[in-house]
Amino acid sequence: MKKNGHFLSLLLAVLCLSASAAWSHPTVVIDAGHGGHDRGGVPGDRYAEKTYTLDVAKRLRNDLRSSGYRVIMTRDGDYFVGLGGRCSVANSQRNAIFMCIHFNSAPREGASGIETYYYTRQSAGLAAAVHSRLVRAAGTEDRHVRTRGYYVLRYTRVPAVLAECGFLTNRSEGARIAGSGAYRQRLADALASAIRSRY
Ligand SMILES: [Zn+2]
Repeated sequence: MKKNGHFLSLLLAVLCLSASAAWSHPTVVIDAGHGGHDRGGVPGDRYAEKTYTLDVAKRLRNDLRSSGYRVIMTRDGDYFVGLGGRCSVANSQRNAIFMCIHFNSAPREGASGIETYYYTRQSAGLAAAVHSRLVRAAGTEDRHVRTRGYYVLRYTRVPAVLAECGFLTNRSEGARIAGSGAYRQRLADALASAIRSRY
């Protein structure tokens, strides 16, 4: 009888733990790079980076909300938000992760592919998950996970990852990013899947 009682309370404890784990997703702060007068990329770029970061950010927001996550956007329109303001949004949350979305540009038109950045140790796992899924979804060059002290990675106190989701300056990659909503959805789905895999 006593043994059974122990078993039941153990079972109850396990059930409670798994239930609370299921309800304790962190808030996902999605940071669409650039905006407003800050177009992103390099001067003379055919495509404005700020437009595509926001598009993928909105798609990611929709993906995550339909999976039950609370999502906050550092911007949800074409306006400027400073880097400090972006970090404050994440730092004011009790339990959050920070997903920063950018597209790359390079003087060499041949450059293409995916780079994923993180800075703090607590962000390494999410960076790896984001990177492998993005590379698979994009089917483009793997330019590796890298550590770098970008402002938004240094000054956010939560797990923070910055994804460079392809080169707008590459003729074919740029055309795919700018020309295909289905492709941008694939990128957003990859980010959502990475977040779901870790949190
Ligand atoms: Zn950028």
